[in-house]
Amino acid sequence: MTTASASSHLNKTVRQQYMSLPQGGKCQVTYIWIDNNGQDLHSKTRTLETEPKSIEAPLRLKLSFIIIQIEIPEWSFCEICRFQQDQKFYREMFLIPACMFRDPFTLDPNKLVLCEVLKNDRLPSETNHRMGCKKVMDQVKEHQIWFGMEQEYTLLGMDGHPFGWPQWGFPAPQGPYHCGVGADKAVGRDIVDCHYKACLYAGIRICGANAEAMQSQWEFQVGPCEGIEMGDQLWVARFLLHRVCEDFGVLATLDPKPVEGNWNGAGGHMNVSTKQMREEGGLQYIEQAIEKLSKRHKEHIKVYDPHGGQDNVRRLTGHHETANINKFTAGVADRFASIRIPLQVSHDNKGYFEDRRPAANCDPYLVTKAIASTCLLDDVEQVRGC
Ligand code: ADP
Ligand code: MN
Ligand code: MN
Ligand code: MN
Repeated sequence: MTTASASSHLNKTVRQQYMSLPQGGKCQVTYIWIDNNGQDLHSKTRTLETEPKSIEAPLRLKLSFIIIQIEIPEWSFCEICRFQQDQKFYREMFLIPACMFRDPFTLDPNKLVLCEVLKNDRLPSETNHRMGCKKVMDQVKEHQIWFGMEQEYTLLGMDGHPFGWPQWGFPAPQGPYHCGVGADKAVGRDIVDCHYKACLYAGIRICGANAEAMQSQWEFQVGPCEGIEMGDQLWVARFLLHRVCEDFGVLATLDPKPVEGNWNGAGGHMNVSTKQMREEGGLQYIEQAIEKLSKRHKEHIKVYDPHGGQDNVRRLTGHHETANINKFTAGVADRFASIRIPLQVSHDNKGYFEDRRPAANCDPYLVTKAIASTCLLDDVEQVRGC
């Protein structure tokens, strides 16, 4: 048995009494931001006097030449920067609201707000890749680029061992778990179901979920989302996943290869289409994009995990439905290629393509930015990180 966290043992029925109390017309707003390791998430909550209707100030206030009232104010937090062994320093950072969702934990009218992190000079922090992504998405706006991301993850007990696995060993080999049903195959479905509902309530464009090839490994899909929305939605969907897991006393890791050996890793496949690709005869534009991607394989691999490709080395081996990290390949219905053209797309002669290289712990802002700039911009310098 895997041990659960202390919090998960708290009485959730007692909690319910307080959760249903009226809140006097006020609104709880939970600000969410990305840690400076580019992976973890943080949040803190404040009370606003009224329910914000959007991130932006209402139009009429913008047009008045007096004060522009922002519905959700900026905030700040104290960041701990760690470098080398136990050296660390603290710095005050700005939180700039970027997008807003409904809060599925404390319910309406309460909100979740994903924020960008700025340094005290108001430039983006080292791991704030939203700003750079937004710039590229604005440049390619006419192409109406859509993304859909498949987020794979693995459930772990508090001891870091895959959730539900025998304590001293392994479950039966892979084969029956992918989309599996039954107590000996699917482990942790409650979390998947609750996360799915939480996403729908919040307003995340979640479009599916399934059990993965390794036992205790799952996937959810978000999309299609246009431009910057992909990164925004995926980061909030990740927040919801970790937060749901907290209630159950289980961990969700996005490590791209949580178990060494004959077990599938975890990816973040990115599906992509432009307006031209979706129209009749669009396959030729997909092929053009793949041709461009083939020339920038190394640059893409560098931004497809938070450690410049080092995390993905363990996963992109050429086995377990992956292509080798050192070689760019593409093919129809080929799950061992870097880029796959789905069979249906090849039949229809239009649609989208799938970049199978991003790791599960990738930053979707960097991945979508790299793909949009390689495929749609001539200025290749844009691909690089911040
Ligand atoms: P797979 O067969 O690779 O497991 P999934 O069904 O898990 O595929 O995921 C398909 C993804 O493709 C979803 O995230 C979906 O939003 C996305 N998608 C579907 N159509 C498009 C499109 N035209 N452009 C971009 N993404 C798309
Ligand atoms: Mn999938
Ligand atoms: Mn999958
Ligand atoms: Mn896929």
